[in-house]
Amino acid sequence: MRAATDKELENREFDLIVIGGGITGAATARDAALRGLSVLLVEKDDFAAGTSSRSSKLIHGGLRYLQTFQFGLVAESLQERERMLRIAPHLTRIRPFLYLLYRGYPEGPVLLNLGLTFYDAASGSWFKRRHSMLNARKVLEREPHLAAEGLRGAGLFFDVQTDDARLTLQTVKGAAEAGARVLNHAAVTGLITENGKCRGVVITRQFSGESISVRAKGVLNATGPWSDSIRRLGAASIPNSLRPTKGVHIVVRKSDFPLGTAIYLRSPDDNRLVWPIPSLEDDVVYIGTTDTDFMGDPDEVIPTQEDVRYLLRAANCAIPTARLTESHVVGSWAGLRPLVAPNAGLSTSATPREHSIAVDENGMLSITGGKLTSNRAMAKHLVDTAVSSLGLAKVARSTTKKVRLPGADGDAVAGILTEARAAGVPEKIRQSWVRRYGSEASAVLEYWRADAHNREIVGARELTLAELIYLVEHEMVQSLTDLLVRRTSAFFWEVNGGLDGIERIADELASRVPWSPVRRQQEIDGYRALVEQHRPGSH
Ligand code: FAD
Repeated sequence: MRAATDKELENREFDLIVIGGGITGAATARDAALRGLSVLLVEKDDFAAGTSSRSSKLIHGGLRYLQTFQFGLVAESLQERERMLRIAPHLTRIRPFLYLLYRGYPEGPVLLNLGLTFYDAASGSWFKRRHSMLNARKVLEREPHLAAEGLRGAGLFFDVQTDDARLTLQTVKGAAEAGARVLNHAAVTGLITENGKCRGVVITRQFSGESISVRAKGVLNATGPWSDSIRRLGAASIPNSLRPTKGVHIVVRKSDFPLGTAIYLRSPDDNRLVWPIPSLEDDVVYIGTTDTDFMGDPDEVIPTQEDVRYLLRAANCAIPTARLTESHVVGSWAGLRPLVAPNAGLSTSATPREHSIAVDENGMLSITGGKLTSNRAMAKHLVDTAVSSLGLAKVARSTTKKVRLPGADGDAVAGILTEARAAGVPEKIRQSWVRRYGSEASAVLEYWRADAHNREIVGARELTLAELIYLVEHEMVQSLTDLLVRRTSAFFWEVNGGLDGIERIADELASRVPWSPVRRQQEIDGYRALVEQHRPGSH
């Protein structure tokens, strides 16, 4: 995958321009390109830089939505979950979860059993993964550190974990493979309007400041929390259509919070569900999430001390002996749920998650709401709506139910692992390659083989020079955050955010992207500040 050049953008008309390179925009560009439409995907920062790298990282039905009787939403999400398992097996991992029941919770074993039975049945995985109900003794045998007092039991069920940023990136790659042009670090700063209709966009590149106008038959706005600001480029009077809520996660060490299975429990403050999830690869547990109204700038969403304390109080209810304080927090992140403004009187956690599509007078379509899990279905809906509202002729049906994401060739993965072992790639490194890139890890292996220097480990999470070069040349990495937040996730899971070796990594990027000495220093300073801002325990 490579960035579109000005030459590829000038003097032509795309069928569609998709604004926003989160999961929704990426899936929309992929759906449209697979149907044979000419598409440009434009992202102002990096792919997945918004909400799509700051979720709970679950592909799930959303068990908690059953408490608000959103059966249709849960059933659709579960079917999408099963599809994601098929089209992205390298990015989806089935995991057990314990839904804990303590005295005083609104639900008891009978209601939970009913809910989980619906969950199993609606996903169609009845014979593969069925829930079971555990009594308190069985729960404590499995997780001996959980609070025993008041424990009535738990429901043991299955959901799917993913790496949200990598899922988005592989979806962008899928769009590019299908013929879409893609751009990151390029913001839409204006709309081209002709006879009252939106016929293109003005794009301003983040680092050079250069602008270019690009034409299209239709423009789709998939900018999630930023959606209203894009609509107002066309008509300043458009009212707020969103009611964003902020969700925060914190990260603690497993040695401080000994938990082997992901759990759901209720917050002692407001009875909302909170979920501590042990990482599968790293010695950390992440705990989410808060759900509070957010009125500020979507570019500046960070965890506050109160968010952190709320999550710590819930965690300490689950394992009181952990006695977690802010000093135990080794990482955190915050994101905005791009929720559609609800009917008056709904509380934030009762706001529906389903997406909605608005068509403005200038013909621009905007999609908001939804979930990471339902990205494929949302994209299909948006492209179907665009095709009919723009009158695009003879467009094929969506194929995304069946076409797998790049890297999903499971048979090839076994061969790549064998070849990598033969080439002397250590076990941990080759496993991390296939977890991130699936069968596309073969391209990383080529760089490893090409030059012995490329075998050097330059950063956290087994980042070799071979992988860094691959990421610059094939995944459009342009900044330290592109690399360490969204490509390798060192920001999320490393206690120091991957700052070890930052100078060495910056040297490599400076020569390959390339950067000036001033930009190199700005990148280092900016990344250090970001890490510090998200580690309340380090102050
Ligand atoms: P975003 O990912 O925010 O993407 C919008 C993009 O538009 C951004 O990258 C932004 O930079 C770009 N943009 C903005 N302005 C411009 C411009 N002028 N020009 C070009 N680009 C622009 N869902 C699940 O299914 N499972 C979960 O576990 C889950 N957990 C969640 C936890 C939290 C805390 C939150 C907040 C959400 C969670 N969700 C989850 C929901 C899910 O993450 C979101 O629905 C989804 O990521 C939204 O994706 P999006 O592409 O619509 O928006």
